[in-house]
Amino acid sequence: MYNINSIREDFPILSRQVYGKPLVYLDNAATTQKPLCVLDAMRKEYLNVNANVHRGVHYLSQQATDLHEAAREIVRQFINAQKTEEIVFTRGTTEAINLIATSFCDSQMQEGDEILVSDMEHHSNIVPWQLQAQRKGIVVRHLPINDEGELTIDKINDFITEKTKIISIAHVSNVLGTINDVQRIVSVAHLRGIPVMVDAAQSVPHMKIDVQQLDCDFLAFSGHKMYGPTGIGVLYGKECWLDKLPPYQGGGEMIDKVTWEQTTFERLPYKFEAGTPDYIATHGLATAIKYMNTIGLKNIEAHEQELTNYCMEKLKTIPNMRLFGPTTTIHPSSHCPQKDAVVSFLVGDIHHLDMGTLLDRLGIAVRTGHHCAQPLMDRLGISGTVRASFALYNTKEEIDTLVAGIHRISQMF
Ligand code: PMP
Repeated sequence: MYNINSIREDFPILSRQVYGKPLVYLDNAATTQKPLCVLDAMRKEYLNVNANVHRGVHYLSQQATDLHEAAREIVRQFINAQKTEEIVFTRGTTEAINLIATSFCDSQMQEGDEILVSDMEHHSNIVPWQLQAQRKGIVVRHLPINDEGELTIDKINDFITEKTKIISIAHVSNVLGTINDVQRIVSVAHLRGIPVMVDAAQSVPHMKIDVQQLDCDFLAFSGHKMYGPTGIGVLYGKECWLDKLPPYQGGGEMIDKVTWEQTTFERLPYKFEAGTPDYIATHGLATAIKYMNTIGLKNIEAHEQELTNYCMEKLKTIPNMRLFGPTTTIHPSSHCPQKDAVVSFLVGDIHHLDMGTLLDRLGIAVRTGHHCAQPLMDRLGISGTVRASFALYNTKEEIDTLVAGIHRISQMF
């Protein structure tokens, strides 16, 4: 039984009001709210345990280190990585992609080599590669999408050349909600000896991820989009790759021995974790994962798929509604899930910013604009969308409120 009332009680912020109206929080793709257990775990750690990790012989430091390393193990199990050595803590998805872009391009790529991304990437899976491209004369290519907002994976071989050294693809689009068949991309890429990085910022919060099944070489996600704290994220990398790549940042924690002549580096994963890690946030993230596990990833997925379908069906009743991306959650022919908990739309010629601002006055928090995906907006020929995105605590009643709000605003224009 999915006990939505008791779940909502875990998130006190959901019962607050804005402009005298009950809050309807539908901006979860940007960040999720935090359950009390996560806040309590972090507060308790600051109150009772706080000490810097790894270097201390004293009791508190060892206790803090144990919590920090236990969090790594919880993340490992959560995504089914083979080893904790493959779990690198970062500040978030963005830092994880920057890490790989920098270390991979520095050590594995030469002028004229190519990186393949896609038309539906978030800027954080475009700009880090462009920065390296500028430095090294590398080319960033992009796999197109079709008019339904799906990746043209059938055409991927036309975009891979003998110069392609890495492919980096979003698992789920933060604008369209499209679930990309990354397992298929990985198998095509591996046939040609090309590693694949997966931006899983929008998939890890919503579905069971198994990195061994995906067989991806790298995968990145952010804690704050999955009920954990801000400022913490994860880079998963196959040990064989992480071993090969040079450190991203230098400093404490990541060294083995430092002399004026030469510095050698720590073993994995510490080689990639320079400086004091956010060990309170790793504990918070682990608590969020335990919270999600208690509800059950399958139950979360089913609940959010139901909300997504319900929302799309209701939105379709609004005159001049334009929905972006797949318009059903299950692909009509393959019967595979094809859309995640994100619905982007425009109504007639009402500007997305006007719609978002007026919805806000009704207590409804949605996101408007380009959603950090300007090349995708160019492809769609628009400047932005209104985006409603769902989490495990949202309800059909909240969607009814959204739809009623859109009806009302449409009639005003
Ligand atoms: N990729 C995708 C698909 C995202 O949706 C986001 C966040 N909107 C990011 C990357 C960047 O995540 P963060 O800002 O947490 O690093």
